[in-house]
Amino acid sequence: MRAMANWHHAVAHIDADSFYASCEAVRHPELKGRPICVLSNQNAFVVAKSYDAKALGIKTVMSVHDAKKLAPHAAYLPPDFQFYGQISAKMFSILRRYSPQIEVYSIDECFMDMNGIRTLWRKSYRQIADDIRESVKREIGITVSVGIANTKTLAKIASESNKPNGTSIVPGKHIGRFLAGIPIRDIPGIGHSRAALLCKFDIRTAQDFANTKESLVKRLLGRLGLTLWHELNGQPVLPLEVKPPLPKSVARTASMGEITTDRTTITAHLSRHTLRLVSELVAKKLLARRLRIFLTCKSFEAASIEIHMDFPTNSLKKVSAAVKQAFLTLYREGEVYRGCGVIATHISRQESATEDLFGLMHEDVRQQRLMLTVNDINQQHGNHTVAPAAARLMQKPQARPARFQYPVFMAR
Ligand SMILES: [Mg+2]
Repeated sequence: MRAMANWHHAVAHIDADSFYASCEAVRHPELKGRPICVLSNQNAFVVAKSYDAKALGIKTVMSVHDAKKLAPHAAYLPPDFQFYGQISAKMFSILRRYSPQIEVYSIDECFMDMNGIRTLWRKSYRQIADDIRESVKREIGITVSVGIANTKTLAKIASESNKPNGTSIVPGKHIGRFLAGIPIRDIPGIGHSRAALLCKFDIRTAQDFANTKESLVKRLLGRLGLTLWHELNGQPVLPLEVKPPLPKSVARTASMGEITTDRTTITAHLSRHTLRLVSELVAKKLLARRLRIFLTCKSFEAASIEIHMDFPTNSLKKVSAAVKQAFLTLYREGEVYRGCGVIATHISRQESATEDLFGLMHEDVRQQRLMLTVNDINQQHGNHTVAPAAARLMQKPQARPARFQYPVFMAR
């Protein structure tokens, strides 16, 4: 293993300990001292368990029947993913205080960019990791484990190696020693079959793997193997993905709450969907390249049309025009309709767009600013305070009326 500076690069992996069971323990203090098992949706299997339940031999995906034989006194609770999501959001908001650069990896774990963070807090990595654990414990009541190392893979192995409620710091100089105690199958990404293959070559610990010749690693495990090999040797290859993944689509669809043949009513609903869709795209800085517009008939049969935009866009003007064009093609006089919707697909990020492509996107930028203002007003004064004129023509407004009546907003 090559000699290297201790902290040429630093990343933390923060992982809550038996998260679902810990969330349940937070809201059921009366269960203190009892093992906790969280069950699957149909209450058939154990999907998560506390450490004391694990100590009794209960495993994830064990049937409730078998688990109860091992631990009749444990608490068996149905899952409440909404609640776990709320605790998760609270946890990430605490973590963002320490470093804004966070890759949310799952509901209960993340990677955190630690470069420059010691200077910011005037503390060692160990002190920062301990602070993080204490803040989460004090403010939410659950414990997390923290690993800090040169790369994401090392940080993840580090946090895993000292659970629950532990801090594990691996400076560059100590990587070799640290990896010597890690069996090969504990490297994230190395499954059973890969571990078995490596064992044939006498590669049994993570340290053996890191010391293996690059060419052999490539021969045995290909590109994935090389990535892991670099990461285990303290050379960061996997970047921090701080942005949330792009959605496949953004949709605004609904039944109209009535069946109608009335062109104006349907247009009003479509206008409202369009405004809300564009509002979301602009707020999330996303662009759409295609739009699917559909009308659902009384028989639940749907007719739809896909429109390819010339450029990725989130301009209300352009999206409205496309929706209008589609509506004119789809709408049939005399047909009874019950629902409609607009779905944006082929989503990309605003920042990755070739801005000002021949000046064609100039107008879009103006539209974005307008939309952001509309969003602000609607957030402060209630949804639909500002809405396109056509949406005002709906016969039965779905939302409660706004507190103030602002001038009707026209998208020109
Ligand atoms: Mg966890």
